[in-house]
Amino acid sequence: MTLTVVGSIAFDAVETPSGSRERLLGGSAVHFSLASSQFAETRIVGPVGDDFGEAEYEILHRRGVLTDDVERVPGGKTFFWAGRYHRDINNRDTLQTDLNVFEDFRPKLSAASRAADVLFLGNIQPDLQREVREQCQAARFVAMDSMNLWIDIAHESLVQKIALVDCLVVNDSELRQLTDEPNLVRAAHKALDLGPRVVIAKQGEYGSAMITRDGYFGLTAYPTTDIVEPTGAGDSFAGGLMGYVAAQGGDAGDPTLRRAIAYGTACASFNVEGFGSERLYALERAEIDARVAALEAISRF
Ligand code: AMP
Repeated sequence: MTLTVVGSIAFDAVETPSGSRERLLGGSAVHFSLASSQFAETRIVGPVGDDFGEAEYEILHRRGVLTDDVERVPGGKTFFWAGRYHRDINNRDTLQTDLNVFEDFRPKLSAASRAADVLFLGNIQPDLQREVREQCQAARFVAMDSMNLWIDIAHESLVQKIALVDCLVVNDSELRQLTDEPNLVRAAHKALDLGPRVVIAKQGEYGSAMITRDGYFGLTAYPTTDIVEPTGAGDSFAGGLMGYVAAQGGDAGDPTLRRAIAYGTACASFNVEGFGSERLYALERAEIDARVAALEAISRF
């Protein structure tokens, strides 16, 4: 089963109370694919600039991520994001977002990317998410993410895109902001009214919750003590989740999704143990499986 992801491909600058990095490989689609490629063949779609070099491609290729649909824009600069984390690492401020090559990007997917069985519309402008959704008519399971910036500046457009997916995967605070509803379960039901069958709310160190019309499932985060920097945790959660669904042939019934959430949770726990997604670069599948087994010992899924 094949998996296509569109989202940002970025350079990130991050500051935490205990250290900073000026230039890390980042972007929602990158964090996602470094996790999803553990489970299923993953094609990544998005533009990069001249500053995106062999070293960056190498990180993706070492994980087997297929980059044929990464479009290099001559003279362009890669998307750039800068953020600062507070002492409570669940809180961060965005310091800078430069769309750069994403400003004029029009996705033109290869036949192989269009044929994906499973599709993830990672965090990026909602109109680009729609353009990719329309090109992937064969997908059996489609999920999307978003974030506060797009809820603020493209609310209507985002709401329309949510109707086009089977599953919405967003931060709990963003779900509340999107629906203007403070209660998480009510907020999820309002989001279900927009069209998806499933809403998955990411709750940072508290874990995640899956809400359907007639069901609720919650899983704690993997209890790591070793938190270095959390950028991309949400995307690697989605990568593990969607990669697992793709590996099950695109079956996205509730039992599969519960187990997929455990795989996403394990991937996210590794993500937070290094800057950016560095901890995923050389991660072994057995390390992920061990954390899923540990989660299974404390929860039922
Ligand atoms: P997360 O920590 O899971 O929210 O993901 C952070 C990643 O999202 C970083 O690597 C950024 O490059 C990327 N990012 C931040 N803001 C945006 C945005 N407005 N659109 C797309 N990607 C973004």
